[in-house]
This record gives sequence, C-alpha cells and structure tokens, in this order.
Amino acid sequence: MKKVTLMATAIFFSAATVFAADLPVKALSDTTKKVKPAKVQYTCTMHPKVLSDKPGKCPKCGMELVKKEPAKKKAETMKM
Ligand SMILES: [Zn+2]
Repeated sequence: MKKVTLMATAIFFSAATVFAADLPVKALSDTTKKVKPAKVQYTCTMHPKVLSDKPGKCPKCGMELVKKEPAKKKAETMKM
C-alpha cells in the first residue's frame, strides 16, 4: 500500500511540476507580446482626432496633449 501511495505522490508531483514549468513560460511570452507594441499616443482632450506620437500641443487649440492609452487595462481585466 505504501508503495502505491508513493507512486501516486510521485506522479502527482511530476504532473504539478510540468504544469508549474509550463505556466510561467506562457505568461512570459504573453507579456512580451503585450509589451512590445507599447505605442503611446497623445491626444487633445478637446479634439480627439488630434493624435501625436510625441507629447506636445494641439495644433487646433494649443492645449497640451494628454497620453492616450490603448485600452490595455480593459483587455487584461477581460482575460482574468
Ligand atoms: Zn485641441
């Protein structure tokens, strides 16, 4: 009986190890994919059509452009 228990424990642990080893790799590659296209755009709060890849001022009203984040947080929440 003891041997069977040991075998079962060994199998369980090796399976758990495979899972544990598999998950972080997937998470890492996922993160790399997400991080790479870190495209930040700047837009005017009054003129959403004004887009710039650099901080600056709106050509229409001269207001400072604000960072426009590409709905990244929403996607992460949906995945959870
Ligand atoms: Zn503007």
